[in-house]
Amino acid sequence: MERTLAIIKPDAVERGFTGKIFDRIEGKGLKIIAIKMIHLTKKEAEGFYKVHAQRPFFPGLTTYMSSGTVVIAVLEGKDAIKKWRDLMGATNPKDAAAGTIRKDFAVDIEKNSVHGSDSPESASYEIPYFFSGIEIF
Ligand code: GDP
Repeated sequence: MERTLAIIKPDAVERGFTGKIFDRIEGKGLKIIAIKMIHLTKKEAEGFYKVHAQRPFFPGLTTYMSSGTVVIAVLEGKDAIKKWRDLMGATNPKDAAAGTIRKDFAVDIEKNSVHGSDSPESASYEIPYFFSGIEIF
């Protein structure tokens, strides 16, 4: 069993894709074991994406991620990290495979609808960034 962090980003929440995305997650056999809706501050977004602090897209990304409501969840299952990344598709929707969330819903490379931990190390930073032990079921 593995755990991963999922974020439905502001563009997807705003356009009403939250239910469709959770349907795909549960359809893939992943279990939702924690969930919350929040509006990040710029500082909270910067802390979450601190590994990207030196990248040119960091200011735009953190402004965007703090521009509206996000839905955050912890997913659990066998190979949860890979399964969720496969459902998401490539970072740039132009490169994403048919049938992936980013191909179907993303606006562009920044407003790409979803986030998923990319490794067990990332998941172990990202999950406790948003959830305490008693919020995970
Ligand atoms: P992910 O793991 O597929 O989400 O991609 P990364 O970890 O590389 O990047 C984190 C997020 O930064 C992406 O999901 C995008 O929202 C944004 N991002 C990544 N690369 C670019 C870029 O070249 N330009 C812009 N504007 N945003 C980017």
